[in-house]
Amino acid sequence: MVEQTIRTTCPYCGVGCGVIIENTAEQGLTVKGDPQHPANFGRLCSKGAALGETFDLSGRLLQPSVDGKLTDWDTALGHVANRFSEIIQQHGPDAVAFYVSGQLLTEDYYVANKLMKGFIGSANIDTNSRLCMSSSVAGHKRAFGTDTVPCCYEDLERAQLIVLTGSNTAWCHPVLYQRIAKAKQDNPDLKVVVIDPRRTETCGIADMHLAIGSGTDNLLFNGLLAYLDRHDERNEAYIQQYTSGIDAALSEAIQQANDVKTVAEACDISLTELEKFYRLFARTERVITVYSQGVNQWSYGTDKVNAIINCHLFTGRIGRPGMGPFSFTGQPNAMGGREVGGLANQVAAHVNFDEQDDVAKVASFWQAPHMAQQAGLKAVDLFNAVAEGKVKAIWVMATNPAVSLPDADKVRSALAQCDFVVVSDCMASTDTMAFAHVKLPAQTWGEKEGTVTNTERRISRQRSFLPVAGNAKPDWWIISEVAKRLGYAEQFQYPNTLSIFTEHARLSGVLNQQKRDFDISGLAEINQTEFDNLAPIHWPVTASAKQGTKRLFSDGQYFTPDKKARFIPIAAIKPAYQLNTKYPFILNSGRIRDQWHTMTRTGQSKRLSSHIVQPFVAMHPDDIQQQNIHINQLVKITSAYGELVLPVLASEQQRPGEVFIPMHWNNQFASKSYVDCLINPAVDPVSGQPEFKH
Ligand code: SF4
Repeated sequence: MVEQTIRTTCPYCGVGCGVIIENTAEQGLTVKGDPQHPANFGRLCSKGAALGETFDLSGRLLQPSVDGKLTDWDTALGHVANRFSEIIQQHGPDAVAFYVSGQLLTEDYYVANKLMKGFIGSANIDTNSRLCMSSSVAGHKRAFGTDTVPCCYEDLERAQLIVLTGSNTAWCHPVLYQRIAKAKQDNPDLKVVVIDPRRTETCGIADMHLAIGSGTDNLLFNGLLAYLDRHDERNEAYIQQYTSGIDAALSEAIQQANDVKTVAEACDISLTELEKFYRLFARTERVITVYSQGVNQWSYGTDKVNAIINCHLFTGRIGRPGMGPFSFTGQPNAMGGREVGGLANQVAAHVNFDEQDDVAKVASFWQAPHMAQQAGLKAVDLFNAVAEGKVKAIWVMATNPAVSLPDADKVRSALAQCDFVVVSDCMASTDTMAFAHVKLPAQTWGEKEGTVTNTERRISRQRSFLPVAGNAKPDWWIISEVAKRLGYAEQFQYPNTLSIFTEHARLSGVLNQQKRDFDISGLAEINQTEFDNLAPIHWPVTASAKQGTKRLFSDGQYFTPDKKARFIPIAAIKPAYQLNTKYPFILNSGRIRDQWHTMTRTGQSKRLSSHIVQPFVAMHPDDIQQQNIHINQLVKITSAYGELVLPVLASEQQRPGEVFIPMHWNNQFASKSYVDCLINPAVDPVSGQPEFKH
């Protein structure tokens, strides 16, 4: 007999699947997909289905400690506040920093951002979403004036053509892949095109796979824009009424990519296939272009995003059912972090630092004595500043930068010599935790509660169903307690997550007046019962859109000063690193199907770990032969930044000359296996996102 049923949200990827937890006397806690949740309608992927195998307390951090000695919360929090306070007094607010995570709930994120930007007086708070989606954020802002995902999942089922570019959807957003596969089954006319240097599992449903050379997709989309123009596929009425900047963008595209043959050669694909794709795109009205880390993780990822958006604006294919550019976000709450201002270059509620009147409104709303006035350091720069001794205290929350940042060995050295490192996490042993002076036990999924926002702007509840382990506390509580000890008790007096959520919702309304997309003021007055029962809902949620808003830009009105979407000219740019005889291979990195991030949770499941049991370097069989090595041989892989030793996996998925290493493994699971020690720390000048794909 079911004694308790809890509806919550999967803690892994940005699909944001609804999960039902049932508690029965016979079976204990069981996990299944929520048939009523509009993200997944009952489906789960392998990771979601194995959530029940990760409730174990083994490896959990259960008690605070200072300098290796277990202590109580009051002592640990007092110590954190004192050290931060001393360093701020001696060296100023920019000498401290928070590095946070898309794993945090919106309420945790909101409080961390408020403390750093409004009260400490620095914008040195950045998030691991910088590594994942910041080029999409920057591309959206350049084109739309705001960080807006225009589409919703339902559009995938209404499209006639889905272009999946830089996205191994089958492994990284599996439930959306299942939805696309089902849509194709129901509608055989739906075409799927995959653009990816690797022949990934996503190609299983593709009508066409364009295995382009690494980093050539900006040229491919510039070529598409020029092709659409040559073949009279411009939506003149839309361009005139709702956009600006077409001439410069088109002229750049024509100059670079007017000849399809030249584009095909530069992208290293067949002319016939490229023309076929261009024709298909040109002749299909309802087109969705999905893009993910394969587009974002470049030193010119923002340009790639805008190259895609340009083609949708040119054809007016945006803001209507079944069409639009659609960024698939990586983490469960990367979107929530973007909403509260978790990125160092945003203030809060989608306000930018150059909007001085609104920055002042945020300060007034928060009653903030020390409002930051300019952007803080983005992730790579932030850890460089730690390495240089400019940032002397860093608090890492729910993430593992010693594994996940590029040039990871440099990050480790920076943490090792930093004066004061605080890490709050649910796990006792992570590669980053090894550097912590203060360890703070945070509650984990199932223990904590609040909200997350998924890829389609849908806010869902995470609800608790497990007893709290040891002395673990919610992240928002830990941050608020430090804020109180820094002297801000009045402004951080939160009795529960509802009080934070409604403050966040009120702020989004105070700032809005239809100037920006993010507005959830329609939820600002909800009570505890309504919060407990909150059904998944797309923002914006306002007085006039109480039920939320599925699709944005249906009226052609954007959030730029002239209300028009902007075309962006896309220059010819190449990856930061060029091949040479010393380093003759291109390295690509990414996820595998059954692990999540640095494996702290998924690594506990035997079932998930049996999918791929060890780290590897995937190489094309021709390269294996040419290098005179053999399958499973341990080989040393060296870049200008570091080296690894990994077994060789033969893979026809790889283009010759290009190798792939998964991003998950780290010192907790295999010795010296973190790929990011090899990765070039070059970043996109607009978004600050590193080039993990080349
Ligand atoms: Fe969880 Fe993502 Fe899998 Fe859904 S698709 S069950 S959100 S990991």
